[in-house]
Amino acid sequence: MNLRPILLSVIICSFILVIGSGLLIYQQNQKAVVATITEINDLESQEIIFPKALLPLFFIENHLLSSFIHNRFDEQSIGYILSTDLQSVLNQPVQWSYIEQDKIYILTIGPRIFYVVNGTDIGQEGARFFPMRGGIIQTLENETGTELYISSDVLSYGFGLKVQEHSNVIYIHDLERALEPQIKEEVITTSSDIPIRNWNIEQRYNILQGFINPIPGTSISTRASHWPGAPRSYRNGVHEGLDFYTGTSGMIVNKQTPILAMADGVVIRADFGYTELGDSDRNVILELAKHRPITPEYILDQLRGKSVWIQHTNGVITRYVHLDRISESIVVGEEVKQGTAIGTAGNSGTSYGVIGNDEGIHLHLDIMIHGQLFWEGLKTEEIVSLLKRLFE
Ligand SMILES: [Zn+2]
Repeated sequence: MNLRPILLSVIICSFILVIGSGLLIYQQNQKAVVATITEINDLESQEIIFPKALLPLFFIENHLLSSFIHNRFDEQSIGYILSTDLQSVLNQPVQWSYIEQDKIYILTIGPRIFYVVNGTDIGQEGARFFPMRGGIIQTLENETGTELYISSDVLSYGFGLKVQEHSNVIYIHDLERALEPQIKEEVITTSSDIPIRNWNIEQRYNILQGFINPIPGTSISTRASHWPGAPRSYRNGVHEGLDFYTGTSGMIVNKQTPILAMADGVVIRADFGYTELGDSDRNVILELAKHRPITPEYILDQLRGKSVWIQHTNGVITRYVHLDRISESIVVGEEVKQGTAIGTAGNSGTSYGVIGNDEGIHLHLDIMIHGQLFWEGLKTEEIVSLLKRLFE
C-alpha cells in the first residue's frame, strides 16, 4: 500500500487545520482599532528608535503560538499616542501640566494621576513605578495648542490594559472593559499612605529579608561617604543609596563584576540606550543643582548613568546604578529571577564616565520601599547595621 498520498493528505489537512484554527482565534480576538500611533521618526530631534514588531498580528494574537513567540522575539514595539487620542480611547478626560523647574509632567487621566520626569523611561503613580519607554514628548505649539505625545506604555503598564501594537495601530484587548471606569478597582498606595520614616528597623528588615547582596561576598563599605544619607556638597543633596567600591567593600569591583538581581521581580527600567553626558552638560546640571535646596529628580536621574530598576513584591524597588553594561537577557516589563546577572559594574554617569576612563568604578545601589528610600528617618548607625544584617 502506498502511504505517500495518505501522508501528504494528513500533512495538508493538519496545515489547513492549524491555519484555520489560528484564523478563528484571530477573528474571535479581533480588536477595535483604537488609535494610530506616531512613528518616533516623525518627531523632530529624537534619536531613540524603537523597532516595531515585525510579526503579523495573527501570530501574536494566536494563543497557541503567542507563548512560543513571546519567548523568542524581543517584542519592543513601542509608540506614542497623542494626548487627545488618549482621551478618546479611554473616554476619560486627559489633562496635563509641566513643572519646568523640575522637568516633571503631571498627567491626569480620569481619576488617576501619573508623574513622568522628562527624558526618563519610567512613570510613577503614587508609590508605584512602571515602564514608560520613550517617556513623554511635548509637541511644538500649533493651531490646536500644545499637545503631548505619550508613550503607549501608559496603556499597558500605566493602566494595566492588554495592548498590542501593529502597523502603527494600537489594539486594546477587551476594549469594552477598558472604557469602563474599572480603573478604580485597583488600590493605589501613595507614599503618604505608608510613610516609611515611621517604620521601625524590624519592619524594614522583614520586608527586605531574603534579598541577596548584588555583589555576593562584598561587605558594607567602610567609608561613610558611601553610605545612604551621606552629604553630597557638590550638588546640594544627600547620597540616596549604598556604594560598592574596590578597597572598601572587601572585593574587587571592576567592569567585569556581575551585578545580580537581589530578588525575583519585574524589570521596570533598563537604560540600554544610555549616552554619556558631555563634560560641560554635566557641569551645567551640577551648577543648577547647587542653586536648589535639594537635587531635583531629573538631575539625579542624569547622574545615575546607565541603570536597571526592578520592581519586587511588597512594594520594594531595587535600582542598580552607574552600570557599564546591561545584560541582553534583561527585558523591560519581563520577570527576572533572583541572582540573575543584570549587568556589570561601571562608572556611567560619573565624572569618570564622562571622560570615558576606567576610574571610579562602583555599584551604586538604591532600595526603595513604597517609592521611598528604605533608610528614611533612620540614624546613620541604624542604616549601616541594618545593611550589615541583611547583606553580610
Ligand atoms: Zn553612590
